[in-house]
Amino acid sequence: MKKNIFTKNFNLSNYTTIKVGGVTEYFAEPSNLKEFTNLIKWSHLNNQTCRIIGAGSNILINNIFLKGLIICTKKMRSVTIDLDSGIVEAESGLMLPTLSNLLAKNGLQGGEWAVGIPGTLGGAIFMNAGSGNFSLADNLISLKVINTKTLKKLEIEKKDIEFKYRFSPFQHNDLVIISAKLHFKPQGNIEQLIQTTKNNLKLKTETQPYHLPSFGSVFKNPENNFAAKLIDDIGLKGFKIGGAEISRMHANFIVNTSSASSKDIFDLITLIQQKVLQNKGIHLQTEVRMIGFDYPN
Ligand SMILES: Cc1cc2nc3c(=O)[nH]c(=O)nc-3n(C[C@H](O)[C@H](O)[C@H](O)COP(=O)(O)OP(=O)(O)OC[C@H]3O[C@@H](n4cnc5c(N)ncnc54)[C@H](O)[C@@H]3O)c2cc1C
Repeated sequence: MKKNIFTKNFNLSNYTTIKVGGVTEYFAEPSNLKEFTNLIKWSHLNNQTCRIIGAGSNILINNIFLKGLIICTKKMRSVTIDLDSGIVEAESGLMLPTLSNLLAKNGLQGGEWAVGIPGTLGGAIFMNAGSGNFSLADNLISLKVINTKTLKKLEIEKKDIEFKYRFSPFQHNDLVIISAKLHFKPQGNIEQLIQTTKNNLKLKTETQPYHLPSFGSVFKNPENNFAAKLIDDIGLKGFKIGGAEISRMHANFIVNTSSASSKDIFDLITLIQQKVLQNKGIHLQTEVRMIGFDYPN
């Protein structure tokens, strides 16, 4: 493998949207599938832990030294669109806002809701990201994945993947998402689709703290309830630990107001969980994934 394909002792804070993170022993940003698979093979053969990140918009990385390799998929973003059938094939690093805008410009309907989610396609499938009643799983046909233990590549059809609210089986298996085949409704009204996409982004930025570093909703909504309402009800909006603050705009967001540490954010997460449990009898489960913490993901 080429020597310069990864960097040693790399600080990850600029690779997360909340702008905190530790230092990884090895870091790589492959720009094609061959480099990506070579890196996974390298970590396997050298017995190194291998973690994948996309846009880092749903992760909290502890400010420690992380042994092993972190691969960021953001440069693997090629995409093809078939205008007649509405079939889209894209690599896992394609950003959802790019996908959303591309679909609208090409008259493909069904991705307008995803414009405000600053994550990659792979991250969105792993998280089963969504908004309102929409989720990317609805448009999925199949996925190409690689098994990090056996190094086998395979294609899985949507019917064989059990998605649940903010959950996919990839959260518990050894499969890494390489690319996805999706279907959107073709031949829509381009002007209307562009307008809806713009409106959706406007609505998001008006109701959520997009102007500050965050990782979106911290907690999953409990059944028949809203995490933001529970946090708001007990008066925690605006509460701070160090530089981490429970957003005054949306109580299910933690924002990094001024050089928050990963510990500030972690402590604020556990404090919210304790207070909501004490006051409401409900355990809030995190949506955000933890890296380098002793915390069950
Ligand atoms: C301002 C803001 C608004 C948001 N709004 C929403 C919203 O409306 N709805 C919503 O659902 N989410 C939302 N999010 C959260 C986040 O953007 C999504 O969960 C997104 O899909 C995560 O993608 P990512 O590429 O950033 O993943 P990362 O944060 O980089 O990673 C998340 C997890 O996915 C895994 N992963 C990433 N790529 C792969 C891959 N190729 N193969 C296997 N595993 C992989 C990582 O290991 C990690 O465990 C928001 C976040 C922000 C900051």
